[in-house]
Amino acid sequence: MQLPSLADFQSAHRRILSHIGPTPCLPSFALSNEERTTWMKLECLQPIGAFKIRGALNSVMQLSDAARERGVVCASTGNHARALAYAGQRLQVPVTVCMSSLVPQTKVDAVKALGAHVEIIGQSQDEAQVRVNQLVSEHGLTDIPPFDALDTLTGQGTLMLEIESVMHRLPDTVIVPLSGGGLIAGVAACAKALDPSIRIIGVSMQRGAAMAESLKAGHPVTVTEEPTLADSLGGGIGMNNRYTFEITRALVDEVICIPERTIAQAMRDCYHNERLIQEGAGATPYAIATEHPALMGSCTLLILSGKNVDLSQFSAVLAGQLPYGDDP
Ligand SMILES: *Cc1c(COP(=O)(O)O)cnc(C)c1O
Repeated sequence: MQLPSLADFQSAHRRILSHIGPTPCLPSFALSNEERTTWMKLECLQPIGAFKIRGALNSVMQLSDAARERGVVCASTGNHARALAYAGQRLQVPVTVCMSSLVPQTKVDAVKALGAHVEIIGQSQDEAQVRVNQLVSEHGLTDIPPFDALDTLTGQGTLMLEIESVMHRLPDTVIVPLSGGGLIAGVAACAKALDPSIRIIGVSMQRGAAMAESLKAGHPVTVTEEPTLADSLGGGIGMNNRYTFEITRALVDEVICIPERTIAQAMRDCYHNERLIQEGAGATPYAIATEHPALMGSCTLLILSGKNVDLSQFSAVLAGQLPYGDDP
């Protein structure tokens, strides 16, 4: 298993900090008491509204001049596409994004607004990836993967280097939204390099949780994609997964899958308790604090990963509705 070292995280952090500042890390008063403190890392306040800008910048900034000129491409459910488009705009690198038709229109529009060229392909991330491979082999574009690459996951993990100076200690528990595992692999590798005793807990939605199913099976498996409030957690981990499956299996202590009603409640709690707007994926760590309190440490860090939610969906959830129904 190949793991980035602490020095790798530090140099990635220096690299990307020329384009994005550190995000705030704040205590949650609603989730803290005499026995336990809970902190929130606000990756939702990144320029594109999610942490994925870290991995995208770290990847594109390391390309050769010739590769930058030919351009970059990705298949993405949304936030990675936005991140790559943003990175491309900052660094003057042309970006093409291949998306499945399940991706919400606001996310498509946001990527176009950042100057990227968008191609809508098929019903799943895997079908979009076929087109990406074609653009790579026929036009020499560079595929910047959303999670399963060392530069990507190292970029995501850099957020752990912004914690200690704010909290004046390291957390004993970190709770991380989990889809393809780029975020959790980077965070876990960086956290355990800082202190091997830090516990890492992943949270996925109950429906179509590819990494959770793969961990159970002991190898990558495919799952059926279904609409969910946590749409940023949809998609497979890739049958030829190279990094994130092994790193997650080795370094993540527990993975919890939560139903739609719990994701919705977490979105409402983030809004009512913290006045933070979180998309479904971004709110999932908050649900662990309320639904699985036994998993919380004496000092817990929640990674609130993104805020890119349609206003119509957000107001439906605030009004108590479940746009995609519930799970058992
Ligand atoms: C991509 C994403 C995740 C999951 O990250 P992975 O690296 O795929 O596990 C979580 N939250 C948000 C908001 C995302 O955009």
